[in-house]
Amino acid sequence: MKHSLERTSPKGGPFIGTCTLCGKTDLPIGAATQDCENVRGLTQDEAVVEAITGVPAGIAVQPPGMDAEYFKEREARFRKELEHLINRHSRENGSDTPDFILAEFLADCLAAWDKNLTRREQWYGRRLDAPIA
Ligand SMILES: [Zn+2]
Repeated sequence: MKHSLERTSPKGGPFIGTCTLCGKTDLPIGAATQDCENVRGLTQDEAVVEAITGVPAGIAVQPPGMDAEYFKEREARFRKELEHLINRHSRENGSDTPDFILAEFLADCLAAWDKNLTRREQWYGRRLDAPIA
């Protein structure tokens, strides 16, 4: 797999980018033809979704104290059930998009919501477990 570059320099100037797969920064356009070590093991789709949403792929908010393996299994099971739900109701027909892609998108939306809610509450100095008044 080659580097998957996202531009970080202003348009009009020389291309400088970051690889969304391995995270290397300050890469010239020529790096797009070089092999990427992709130590995170992301797929091309996961890298694209991550670049668009700004949410690290496959990293929903892991509740404190929950076993990491169990969390990953639970997340994978959730995405699979979403996929079956979408398929059962034929909801992939509206956009002609495979159910597993829609399931990933919806799970990523939830992860983005969790992340941004957390950031907002931290910004206001509020506790995340406080009841909503
Ligand atoms: Zn790379």
